[in-house]
Amino acid sequence: MIKIPNSISIANLPTRIENLKGLSEELQKNIFIKRDDFTGCEVSGNKVRKLEYSVKDAIDKGCNTLITCGGIQSNHARATAAVAARLGLKSILVLRSNETPKIDGNYLLDEILGSEVRIITSDQYRDSREEIMESIKKEVDSQGDKAYIIPEGASNGIGTFGYFNCFKEILEQEKLMNKSFDTILVPVGSGGTYAGLFLANKLLNSKKRIIGINVCDDAEFFKNKISEIVQETLDILGKKLDFSKDEIEIIDGYVGRGYSLSRKEEIDFIKKIGRTEGVILDPVYTGKALYGLYNESKNKNLDTCKNILFIHTGGIFGLFKDYEEDIQWKI
Ligand SMILES: *Cc1c(COP(=O)(O)O)cnc(C)c1O
Repeated sequence: MIKIPNSISIANLPTRIENLKGLSEELQKNIFIKRDDFTGCEVSGNKVRKLEYSVKDAIDKGCNTLITCGGIQSNHARATAAVAARLGLKSILVLRSNETPKIDGNYLLDEILGSEVRIITSDQYRDSREEIMESIKKEVDSQGDKAYIIPEGASNGIGTFGYFNCFKEILEQEKLMNKSFDTILVPVGSGGTYAGLFLANKLLNSKKRIIGINVCDDAEFFKNKISEIVQETLDILGKKLDFSKDEIEIIDGYVGRGYSLSRKEEIDFIKKIGRTEGVILDPVYTGKALYGLYNESKNKNLDTCKNILFIHTGGIFGLFKDYEEDIQWKI
């Protein structure tokens, strides 16, 4: 038995696992989808699983203010705002935008949920978001409150337990469904989701293939980042584990035009899944990752994967930002 830290309970768990019938038929393999987009409404998506551990740690440390960061349409920031409001905590979101942002999508929800939003430029975000959050923490602490910093995506040692636990949930569901998934496939944006699944797969001696599809940066970047996160999580557990970063399987090639930018084939694929499965993917993460699974399967790169579980990590509110002329959603 591996004893993981305690968490608060906010997410609707376990999340359902459903068959994607049309896609399974077309690709001649069994493709299932785990609906982590159903973890809640305001907290929809993968981040709440991680926040259940990060926020527990914050409360245990006597903190009453959560500070975190992300893009202007960050799902993670919105989920943090929702958890904070639910628990009577304050939240301060450091969000990246080079323009005065429109109040739509996730950012609209941040405002409704009562977060204090501080906008920084993409250069500031890249070079000094951690220092900026530290200085906000000092400011908060000096006013008699106590702040807790959650890094981008809650992708650190503690947050990762959310997906360690999700892996255990999947093992339970396999028993109930009398099925066994040989492969789990997830989008990778800051690495914590992948890290939790990877570590649980190793420590629980399960032999699944865990495949990540990166939606920004590249495979090398994430192999390093995920190794660091896994090491942090092991340190919290007080366990040692020999693993090589080459065991971390990231399929590169689906970033497309860049983070949160779409290509026509990605939009067409999102429409295809909407129309044939009745499932809405988001353009930033799940649309790209499931498109990656589809394309790799068509190119015969996933022939040994017969029973694949795709995790729908959420992102629905990203669809409700103003796209203007940016991408064509009309038929
Ligand atoms: C953050 C996010 C991801 C990526 O998860 P990481 O743990 O950051 O790699 C995937 N999908 C959605 C919808 C997200 O918001």
